[in-house]
Amino acid sequence: MSAAVRAWIVASGDELVQGRGLDTNSAWLARELGELGVETRRMLVIGDDEAGLRALAEQAGRELELLVVTGGLGPTLDDVTRAALAAAAGVELVEDAGALATLREWLAARGRPFSESNRRQAFLPRGAELLPNAVGTAPGFLLRCAGALVAALPGPPREMQRMFTDELRPRLERALPPRPARELARFYLFGLPESNFADRCGDWMARDADPLLGVTAHSGVLSAQLASADAARLAARADEFRERFGEWIFSEKSGDQARVLADLLLERGITVATAESCTGGLLAQRLTQFPGISAVFGWGFVSYANAAKQDLLGVDPALLEEHGAVSLPVAEAMARGAAQRSGARLSIAITGIAGPEGGTPEKPVGLVCFATCLDGVLQSTERRFVVRGRDLIREFAAQTALDLARRRLLD
Ligand code: AMP
Ligand code: MG
Repeated sequence: MSAAVRAWIVASGDELVQGRGLDTNSAWLARELGELGVETRRMLVIGDDEAGLRALAEQAGRELELLVVTGGLGPTLDDVTRAALAAAAGVELVEDAGALATLREWLAARGRPFSESNRRQAFLPRGAELLPNAVGTAPGFLLRCAGALVAALPGPPREMQRMFTDELRPRLERALPPRPARELARFYLFGLPESNFADRCGDWMARDADPLLGVTAHSGVLSAQLASADAARLAARADEFRERFGEWIFSEKSGDQARVLADLLLERGITVATAESCTGGLLAQRLTQFPGISAVFGWGFVSYANAAKQDLLGVDPALLEEHGAVSLPVAEAMARGAAQRSGARLSIAITGIAGPEGGTPEKPVGLVCFATCLDGVLQSTERRFVVRGRDLIREFAAQTALDLARRRLLD
């Protein structure tokens, strides 16, 4: 079994270090390299800095196996990647006949003149292997700097991605040592804080654990991944995981709660309606992302004002007066009204205080009341979201509503 191949990814461009452009190439490349079994150890952003880039490539040559550089392959004088990598490899830049011919053809096919600037792009480090560019003028290349394989790809994401997929990936697959097959198990959980999750995991997340457990958190959803080269160990740990966390796992396929609920509704042919106050349609928006959802979703009410709760959903003004708009009785009345007016079998209601104004000691900012009505039977519950800011409170409210609805269907 061979050790993991380690990589650095370097994004080069003055616009990136000056905050005028965002490096999206590196994240894309890290995911792709990960699929090849390559471990990205660092991502670096550097300007159009020939000496700096050369130094990085030299360091990579001493310390690791793979360096991928994006950007700086254009025709202008600030495109310094070719020169920097040639210097790091200790070779000179030479005109590549293949690159030159391709460049001439590419420009001719588009009726564009061949300029001396373009000629710069046909110069590659001596000994480098050309990586043709199917969708632009800048050719990429692959060369060796001491112990590292170094790839240079163009900056524009479309060209970079195409060149990686068509040219670099197949070469890497051949050049890299065969990697141990790694099996994965994925779990998506909702309603468990990340720290609480970590406490319950014991040493499953220790750096040398096998299977190794990793977790990321986003909008209340924990995405957990177990990885091991040993399928039997992985299956055993996955069983333990389900036993320990079954209460919070909403899917082993998708981290999108709306997708999971929509699939369940479609599978069972259960129609659904939404009645929303503080989320202003967020729940309906989440559900209507999916083509085909009209088979089960037809009505979403946004009843922000009390008058709207009365007019659209038939909420009794006396109820609003007595309990306030953010209360379990009003949430239930909203759910019942939505079910009655739409004819849907399931309805989901949300009413809460998203802030920053409007909180009181009894009803603080972040308090949200939920109700579901399934075949005429109501259930309601409240949550207090102590997250920062209006957007997050609304986001968590929609996420919680999706979770409650799913649990209701599985009851
Ligand atoms: P270059 O290859 O340096 O000529 O890059 C040309 C253009 O590609 C830049 O102006 C950016 O719009 C885009 N670009 C370069 N590097 C990146 C990157 N790391 N992430 C996303 N876009 C990039
Ligand atoms: Mg650039």
